[in-house]
Amino acid sequence: MAEKQITIKEVSLNNNCPECYNTNGLQLTFKQKFKETNLYKSITSETIQEIECKTCNTIIYPVMWTDDIERVFEYHQKAFVPKKPSTKLKKKAWLIIALFGIIITAGITFAVIYK
Ligand SMILES: [Zn+2]
Repeated sequence: MAEKQITIKEVSLNNNCPECYNTNGLQLTFKQKFKETNLYKSITSETIQEIECKTCNTIIYPVMWTDDIERVFEYHQKAFVPKKPSTKLKKKAWLIIALFGIIITAGITFAVIYK
């Protein structure tokens, strides 16, 4: 089973980068985890937030956040609406279900006719 992360929302922040002190590099990204197997795709309720500086290419971990970054982060966190958790069956899964349906229907029909 593969676990992937999809980016739901990206926000550019005007805060100073704690690493390179640039004000135009910080980007806050909201991601959500989803799982994929051969038979289904499923969005989980688990979200991941990440701040990265595009100027110095550094991931800014929460321990490095300044009060300003924290404040801006909280603001965006509140405004962020994650995707609803859901599971979607793939074509293959539907084919298996359909096949079972046909076999069962055929079995019942056979049993009724040749009773
Ligand atoms: Zn930076």
